[in-house]
Amino acid sequence: MPRFYITTPIYYVKDAPHVGHAYTTVNADALARWHRLIGDQVFFLTGTDEHGQKVARAAEAQGLTPAGWTDQLAPRFASAWADLDISNDDFIRTTEPRHHEAVQRFLGRIYENGHIYEDVYRGLYCVPCEQYYAEDDLVDGALCPIHRLPVEHLEEENYFFRLSAFEQPLIDWYESNPGAVVPESKRNEALSFIRGGLRDISITRTSIDWGVRVPWDEKHVFYVWYDALINYLTAIGYGRDDQRFEQWWPAVHHLIGKEIIRFHCVWWPAMCMAAGIDPPAHVQVHGWLLLGGEKMSNSSVNQITPGELTADFGVDPVRYHLLRDIPLGSDGDFSAEGIVSRYNADLANNLGNLLSRVATVVGSKCGGTGPAPDPDSRLAGEAAAVVAEAAAAWGNAQPHLGLEATWRLIRETNAALETAEPWKSEPGPEVDAILGSALEVLRIVALLIVPAMPTTADEIWRRIGLDGSPGDEALPAAASWGGYPGGVDVEKGAPLFPRRKS
Ligand SMILES: [Zn+2]
Repeated sequence: MPRFYITTPIYYVKDAPHVGHAYTTVNADALARWHRLIGDQVFFLTGTDEHGQKVARAAEAQGLTPAGWTDQLAPRFASAWADLDISNDDFIRTTEPRHHEAVQRFLGRIYENGHIYEDVYRGLYCVPCEQYYAEDDLVDGALCPIHRLPVEHLEEENYFFRLSAFEQPLIDWYESNPGAVVPESKRNEALSFIRGGLRDISITRTSIDWGVRVPWDEKHVFYVWYDALINYLTAIGYGRDDQRFEQWWPAVHHLIGKEIIRFHCVWWPAMCMAAGIDPPAHVQVHGWLLLGGEKMSNSSVNQITPGELTADFGVDPVRYHLLRDIPLGSDGDFSAEGIVSRYNADLANNLGNLLSRVATVVGSKCGGTGPAPDPDSRLAGEAAAVVAEAAAAWGNAQPHLGLEATWRLIRETNAALETAEPWKSEPGPEVDAILGSALEVLRIVALLIVPAMPTTADEIWRRIGLDGSPGDEALPAAASWGGYPGGVDVEKGAPLFPRRKS
C-alpha cells in the first residue's frame, strides 16, 4: 500500500490561530483525505513550536514559567483544527520529551559527523522572527524585512553548523531531484540562494535556556528553528523506532509558506545530509493569503480567526473557499465578499441546487424512490473524464483544479436537467433515466468532495439513500459510472446551502 506522509509547519505557539494558518492546515488535511480515499496509508502531522526567546519573554511578562504558558497556548491550535474538521494523525509539541530526545540524537549525530563547531557569533537579530539577518536583508538598513521593526546587535558563543560544506551537495541534490521543491519558481529561488554561496549558521544559544539542551555542552540550547524542523522526524520515530522511521522517511510532503523557504529548502536538506539521512523528498511551497494586499499575520491587525469565519459561513464552505480560490503556490486575496460570491455561485446555485431539485422531482415523479442511473447517459462520459481530471489534480497537490473539474460535472448535470425538464414530464422510463443519472452524479460528486467538504459529502450520501460514508469508499473504482443502486429512498431535506446576501 503506497504511503503518504504530509506535514504542516508547526505553528508558533505564541500566535493565535488565524486564517493564514488555517489555509495551510486545510490544504494539508484535504490532501491527506484525498490520499486516504485512494487507499494510501496516510500519516498527517501538525503541531506547535514552543521554544525560543519570544515565548520565554512573553511567559515572563505573564508571570508564568514558559512551560506553564505554552500549556495554555498549545490547545488553541488543537481546538482550532478540531473546529475545522482537520484529520491530523498526530499533534506534536516541541516541548514533549519525545521531541527533546529526537533533537539531541539528530544534532548529536551531526556533531559526531564533524559538521558542528564552536565560535563567536556577532549578528543582527530580530526577536519576533527568532532569526539573524544579514545587513543586505534589512529594510532601510535597520529593520526586519518581515516585521519592519529594528533588529538587535547580539554577540554570543555559539555552535555553528557547517552549512558551507553542503553548498555543492545541495546543488547536486536539486539537480538530480528536479521535482523536490515545487512550484518551480520557489525551487529556483532556493537554488539561486545556494549558488550565491552559503555561510555557516549559528544553531545554539547561551542567552536563554528555554529550549532543547545541547547534549555535549549543557550551557547551550539549540536555537528554536533547528529544534523545530526536527519535529518532522520525531513524530515518525527517529532514533526510537527505526522500522517505523524508514517506512515514512524520506517520502514526506512538507507543505510550507513561502516565508520559510530557506529553512526548509536550504538548511533542512543540508542538516539531513549532515546527519546521514536523505533530505525530504517533497517540499510544496504555498503563497500568502492577502488581506487588502498585505500578508495576514499575527503581528498585524488584519488577522481573522478561523472560528469567526466558520461561525458565519459553516466549516465546509470555509474549507471549500480556501481550497478553491487560492491555488497552492500563488498568493491569493482573501475577503468576505470572495467567500460569499464563491458560496452563492458554487455551493448554493450549483451543488445545493442540484441536490435539491433532484430530490424534489424524485419526490413528485418517483414517489421518493431514487431510480437507477442510465448506463448510456451522456453524463457517464463526462463523469469519467472529470474523475480522471480531478484525480490527476489532487495527485499533483492542486485542489483548486480538482474542485474546478468536479464543479464542471455539477454544472453539466444541472444543464442536462434543464434540457430534459423531468419536472414537466409524466413519470416513466425517460424521467427515471435522467433522475437516476443525476443521482449517480451526486454520488460521484460526494466522493470527489470528501477531501474538501467531508461533512457535506456525508450528508449528500445519506440524502440520496446510501449507507455508510463516502470517505470509506475506495477511489477510483467507487467513482465508476453505475454505482448508484436505485430503489433507495431519497430525502428532500432543507437546502444544504441557503443563498446568502452577504
Ligand atoms: Zn522579524
